[in-house]
Amino acid sequence: MNLYEQQPYWLMKNGIVAQYPSLDKNLSVDVAIMGAGISAALTAWYLRNAGLNIAVFDRRHVAMGSTAASTAFLQYEIDTPLTELRDYVGETNAVKSYELCRKAIYDIEHLCKTLKPAFDFHLVPSLQYASFNTHTAKLKQEFELRKKYGFKINWLDKADIKKTFGFEAPAAVFSEDGGEVDAYLLTHALFADFCKEGHQVYNNSPVKHLEHTNKGVTLHMTNDLRVKARKLVIASGYESLQYVPKKIADIHSTYALVSEPLHDKYFWHRNSLIWETATPYMYFRVVSENRILIGGRDDPYHHPHMKPSVIVKKTTQLCNAFLKKLPDIPLKADFSWAGAFATTKDGLPYIGSIPERPNTYFALGFGGNGITFSVIAAEILRDMISGKKNNNAKLFEFNR
Ligand SMILES: Cc1cc2nc3c(=O)[nH]c(=O)nc-3n(C[C@H](O)[C@H](O)[C@H](O)COP(=O)(O)OP(=O)(O)OC[C@H]3O[C@@H](n4cnc5c(N)ncnc54)[C@H](O)[C@@H]3O)c2cc1C
Repeated sequence: MNLYEQQPYWLMKNGIVAQYPSLDKNLSVDVAIMGAGISAALTAWYLRNAGLNIAVFDRRHVAMGSTAASTAFLQYEIDTPLTELRDYVGETNAVKSYELCRKAIYDIEHLCKTLKPAFDFHLVPSLQYASFNTHTAKLKQEFELRKKYGFKINWLDKADIKKTFGFEAPAAVFSEDGGEVDAYLLTHALFADFCKEGHQVYNNSPVKHLEHTNKGVTLHMTNDLRVKARKLVIASGYESLQYVPKKIADIHSTYALVSEPLHDKYFWHRNSLIWETATPYMYFRVVSENRILIGGRDDPYHHPHMKPSVIVKKTTQLCNAFLKKLPDIPLKADFSWAGAFATTKDGLPYIGSIPERPNTYFALGFGGNGITFSVIAAEILRDMISGKKNNNAKLFEFNR
């Protein structure tokens, strides 16, 4: 499966930032990590000082899976509103999941400050507007529930939105806690720091087949080499689904574009992340070099090889939808791409282990908040692999 088609902006902007070898000998390690995207990088980094010998293998190149295509909104509001999530997992667990995603934004801020430079990380507020008048009542319920649990939010009516953001919408929730990052660069920086501790990262090293025993896992690689590991972490993005016997996610297609650079005068209140209540939704934000990123208009299927004409059509739709809101911005698409995108029944990730695969842990941050989920997965898996109890693990386990 192609994880994306055409030119994700960050890949074009940053190019190849580091080289890693391919595997050329058999290995024996304490922990093997399959995949080298943001989920693997965070898990590896959180484990790096646990006194374990760790190796990471990617079938492609570091961060060149979905991570390169990510539009990297960092939000605690997941695709399932809190008012709906409580019906799936109960109010306490729903609120806890939102709180963990909010904490993850600040964990990424801390990481970016620690690793330096800042990888285009910024704390920015987010605005979710009602796409139609009929969505206002539900958005108000969402606002009230989040307010009750102490989330820093304000309700904006039509006049407030026009005055503050300059566009028309019936109502909106303005949220103080949000962020954005260059996920591609952050992944490379995490691996660079991880390798300083003597651990290893390999490009072009696909795992063909897994053999589980009660002592550990053997990774059979496509070039007939073998890696023996006491523990395995599967962080292979959407391609991880083949290792889970039951269906846990649907794969959709999502689309994004980045505009040509624009004058500062065209940006909006505090460069907020902006998204809407419609399904599928459109979202937009300001990215580096004074460009605007627009994404969304998902399709509920994914073709392994998408036709370029589909991306052209979606780019036009996204530009038109944006210009309907902000017609005075002279927007011209510069880069556009499509990506695979997985959704789960409740919008939460799957983190942890399954009985069918002993000594193996999954970091599956599916959904619109994949990156904040990756942070949560890294923390939980670090504790599980180090034999410590993690009270949050139950929220995201496979048999929830
Ligand atoms: C267009 C788009 C927009 C998005 N926007 C957002 C957003 O705004 N905010 C957000 O939080 N999330 C967003 N996401 C989701 C987010 O990008 C993902 O959740 C995240 O990048 C997943 O990272 P990962 O490391 O789990 O997967 P990946 O980055 O895909 O990494 C998995 C790696 O595993 C490797 N692999 C697979 N199989 C094997 C094998 N057999 N052997 C060895 N290696 C293997 C792959 O080559 C790949 O590099 C978006 C995704 C897309 C596509």
